[in-house]
Amino acid sequence: MCLHLLLAIIRSPSSPEAFMVRYWEVVSQLFSGYSKGNIHSMAVRNISDVNPNDNAAPLEVRVIRTWQPFLFQNEHCYLFVDSRGDAIEAYGNRRDKALFESKFSVGLCYRISKYLSKKARNSHNVVPSNATIHLGRSTIFEPIVGVDIPHQYFNFMPYESLRARENMHFLLTDYIGRFDRFTSDTRTTSGKRLMKFLLEDANERFIEVALWEEIADAVDKEALVNTPFPCIVAVTSMKVLRFKNLQLASTAATHLYGNPTIQDVSDLANRFRERYAGINMDDRYTLPIANILAKNPVDYMEVKFSCIASIVSYNPRRSWFYKGCTVCKKKLGSREDALICDDHHDAPQPKYLYCINCTIADSTGNATVTIFDIPFQSVIKIPCNELVIQ
Ligand SMILES: [Zn+2]
Repeated sequence: MCLHLLLAIIRSPSSPEAFMVRYWEVVSQLFSGYSKGNIHSMAVRNISDVNPNDNAAPLEVRVIRTWQPFLFQNEHCYLFVDSRGDAIEAYGNRRDKALFESKFSVGLCYRISKYLSKKARNSHNVVPSNATIHLGRSTIFEPIVGVDIPHQYFNFMPYESLRARENMHFLLTDYIGRFDRFTSDTRTTSGKRLMKFLLEDANERFIEVALWEEIADAVDKEALVNTPFPCIVAVTSMKVLRFKNLQLASTAATHLYGNPTIQDVSDLANRFRERYAGINMDDRYTLPIANILAKNPVDYMEVKFSCIASIVSYNPRRSWFYKGCTVCKKKLGSREDALICDDHHDAPQPKYLYCINCTIADSTGNATVTIFDIPFQSVIKIPCNELVIQ
């Protein structure tokens, strides 16, 4: 009921006493759905029908996640899912967290009433809903049992849709793939832990997943590595970023699930079993030259291939060494009379390093390659510096 109509009704009685009586009737009618005992008479609303500022009809949901946002410091957040599998973000004041959690537990189902529905956030929404649920101290949570409500909610994006979300954080991204391996686990210059691993999608495309400390600390690395092949991992509420390549980076809302019990997982696992049947996972990237050349480089930026081949010729027109930085081996640039490394201005320079341009071949084809210092030196056993200077 709109405010104008309410004012028109309560102004119409002639005497102040009549006004008060009428006012009370109107107000009690308006809020009758809220009074205890009447809750059950209001129809349960589907999450997909919740709009900002509507009349807060009861929801029947399972509470499936909770997190403490970085961006919205005064809030504590929860994710609700309903029997139709739709999800909505709920949040309340952080100072009331203990009160909320005395009324409900993550994993269980409740009929929820006396809440406010508000607009979705301007950024960092974890689900594609136009509304959020605001929980207050008087919000009612009645436990319900025997309802068929999913235990999980995901809104997986396929690999090919990620690019469109690069640096767009209105809606965060859920992603699923096969856990390939951890690629790093270090601390940034600010001392914060950053763990990275690779996920492979159903079409053999790899993406780096970066988990910040708050999320990484809760990951059981050993369990992931030791999960029998294929280990399917779902990550939720990620930001799509780009450094050299696309990367999924965690947010405070990120959750990681190993082999979650959903249909997508068994389908995906079967595809990986078929694809990798008879292949030893430890040398699955050791391939004949023709197979490596047939791959689209864009999809394999994170993967290092190997092949067993012979060097069949050297390119005499290309130098076989370069002047590199004594610290980082990067090619030096010249400044006036000196050779300088961008990153190590004061280091004594240069160091001579191999860069052998040659053609390699196996029974399937040939390829032009550059063999850099460490691998070439491991074959000929003489440092490049010695060969050039002598
Ligand atoms: Zn350098």
